[in-house]
Amino acid sequence: MNILHSVAQMRDWRAQNDNTALVPTMGNLHAGHIALVELARQHARQVAVSIFVNPLQFGANEDFAQYPRTLEQDAALLADIDDGIIFAPGIADLFPIPQRYHIEPPPLANELCGRFRPGHFRGVATIVMKLFNLVQPTIAVFGKKDYQQLTILRDMVQDFTVPVTLVAGETIRAADGLALSSRNRYLDAAERQAAPLLYNILMDIKTRVVNGERNYAQLEQNALAKLTEHGWRIDYVSLRNQDLTAPTEDSTQLVVLAAAHLGRTRLIDNLEISV
Ligand code: AMP
Repeated sequence: MNILHSVAQMRDWRAQNDNTALVPTMGNLHAGHIALVELARQHARQVAVSIFVNPLQFGANEDFAQYPRTLEQDAALLADIDDGIIFAPGIADLFPIPQRYHIEPPPLANELCGRFRPGHFRGVATIVMKLFNLVQPTIAVFGKKDYQQLTILRDMVQDFTVPVTLVAGETIRAADGLALSSRNRYLDAAERQAAPLLYNILMDIKTRVVNGERNYAQLEQNALAKLTEHGWRIDYVSLRNQDLTAPTEDSTQLVVLAAAHLGRTRLIDNLEISV
């Protein structure tokens, strides 16, 4: 895959490629991203993988400065894919002047991760809209790993009648269950060993719900207690309907979502539950 760095190059390429699937990423690619690229290739003639660490979605005390930037390594991972490009703009390319207009997402953006990362989804929605306008893809692929992000972007596409079809990719995990994430590299060896606990707890909740347990608050409470006991600092564990509304006893399409800190690393994960 060739790398395009400027907005002008991207526009030129787009003028000649009208059947494109976009895979937006922040780089430091892993097998989860590559799975999205493979999925994208099944849906369009060309794939555009954007690699951009988006300053709009980071809070003042978050890891924007330290977020891993590994463009050479990323390009090597995508080297075998001929039918597409990498779009890796610099900040000044996408923001020649500071962004004045923003996408204001609905109240869901203040729940779950949004409660702990104010403005995060506003930043995500704004950059994704910007990329959509620039790349004008037919489809765009996002991972279920970021379940709330996917939901908010689906709603955005619907509300603004954006002519892009969203495709969701399943979460790719390490053999021990830990969801792959660029932030996993912040974990030291002991933390990496402890990290699958989050997935195991979500799996346990899933099993219990499938077996008929309906006291969602109790399940969330038990999970909090277990994670705390093992030294995690929890942002939330939440059972929801798959559209992220509050579940009832009759809900059949659920998802359990969690975010928690292990040392200095914030991990998120979720599992869909069908009963
Ligand atoms: P990021 O680079 O973290 O912004 O992620 C870019 C895209 O990759 C998003 O749509 C994520 O949901 C998706 N993604 C991240 N981790 C995984 C994973 N382990 N499996 C599948 N997709 C993922």
